[in-house]
Amino acid sequence: MPELVFFSGTMDCGKSTLALQIEHNRSARGLAGMIFTRDDRAGRGKLSSRLGLVTDAVEVGDGQDLYAHVVDHLSQGGRVDYVIADEAQFLVPEQIDQLARVVDDLDVDVYAFGITTDFRSKLFPGSQRLVELADRVEVLQVEALCWCGARATHNARTVGGVMVVEGAQVVVGDVAQSADEIGYEVLCRRHHRRRTTAATARAAALSPDVLPVSSG
Ligand SMILES: [Zn+2]
Repeated sequence: MPELVFFSGTMDCGKSTLALQIEHNRSARGLAGMIFTRDDRAGRGKLSSRLGLVTDAVEVGDGQDLYAHVVDHLSQGGRVDYVIADEAQFLVPEQIDQLARVVDDLDVDVYAFGITTDFRSKLFPGSQRLVELADRVEVLQVEALCWCGARATHNARTVGGVMVVEGAQVVVGDVAQSADEIGYEVLCRRHHRRRTTAATARAAALSPDVLPVSSG
């Protein structure tokens, strides 16, 4: 039976690397994939991993019907043996429903990869819909680590290394940033709650007067 599988995790947990591995394994067997992505770090129409691998992908727009896109491709004589949707947290809920329809009506496996929660630890709407609809949810086993060494389960947004909790849900940034730029950092729940990033922990260690206020 074809399946809708949601591979979820924090940033830096290896989602895109696994997506590229699935793509490689299947295309090496002669299968043809349709790869969707949105706002990948390598630019529009790319699926990339931090380890440096990259492949071409279909950049998804706001109102794009993913089911219709697959049907169009098939009706023009193309093959689609499986679908990969990376950065699936950026898809709107309707697009997740369209992916479920690809599985049910076209008998095609769909592998969606996404971050579960945003920088305020709230579910992304696309990820929420995936949790609701997926046949399986796989939490990735490549564990990202907080600066303290604990398992990182939460995504923090930072500005100049300082964690912020206000702002739009989607602002594209990366982990390597200069001062005042928006970046992202994975933290354990304790340090997400205390808003202690690697940079603020380092600053606090250097000057004990500015220890962050503990909220528990
Ligand atoms: Zn920590």
